[in-house]
Amino acid sequence: MRQKIVAGNWKMNKTFEEANILASEVMGMVADEVKGNVKVIFCTPFPYLHPIKNLLGSNSRISVGAQNCSEHESGAYTGETSAVMLKSMNIPYVIVGHSERRQYFGEDGKLLAKKVDIALKNGLTPIFCCGEPLDVREKNGHEALVKKQVEESLFHLEAAQLEKVVIAYEPVWAIGTGKTATSQQAQEMHAVIRKHLAGKYGANVADNISILYGGSVNAANAKELFACPDVDGGLVGGASLKSREFTEIIKSI
Ligand code: PEP
Repeated sequence: MRQKIVAGNWKMNKTFEEANILASEVMGMVADEVKGNVKVIFCTPFPYLHPIKNLLGSNSRISVGAQNCSEHESGAYTGETSAVMLKSMNIPYVIVGHSERRQYFGEDGKLLAKKVDIALKNGLTPIFCCGEPLDVREKNGHEALVKKQVEESLFHLEAAQLEKVVIAYEPVWAIGTGKTATSQQAQEMHAVIRKHLAGKYGANVADNISILYGGSVNAANAKELFACPDVDGGLVGGASLKSREFTEIIKSI
């Protein structure tokens, strides 16, 4: 059975005090109500990872994740954080290839393949993001582009490695815009991704990969999106910063 996941991407938001309040409130509200097979992840800014992890304590339903890692193991890379460091702090997840990193930091498929590799090598689960910009969707090029993104950064992996990756389909035109993909658009693309994985790795492997939808998920649209057969949860930006709304999203799965 595929793991259901609701991950909150806090991006570069919240002071430390606000972050603690947010995490505590979600923990309190979710408490015993998170279904057994749902994993909740707070993808926090780097400085908050360890304290928020400590705050979560032995809560096995909620984990923390980083929003990025370096493609290098260590060395003279001022300002960077390595997967080795994350591993040494027992951080289980890391987002790789968010569209904001692709857009503002020039991260391309080849670099992201290295980040996926180094994350896996250090026992982290990469949450690999893919998705098309609006102009590509308007020209009907979204399927081809997303398949290419998946090929470039994941198809060098062995099946056993791929099974440790979580994929997030995030159409760029839906991120932070309030414009969500319809459940039909989301389902179509998730099925395309899964079929593409099946073509390379076989249906058994593809069936075990969690594919999350991201792009203006909120309390009002989560239920319909999560009901799609190939949507295994969400990567949530803006709405993950509001404890009540994020909790509603978690409960929608
Ligand atoms: C994201 O940052 O991955 C995201 C999907 O953001 P939002 O939910 O705000 O669109």
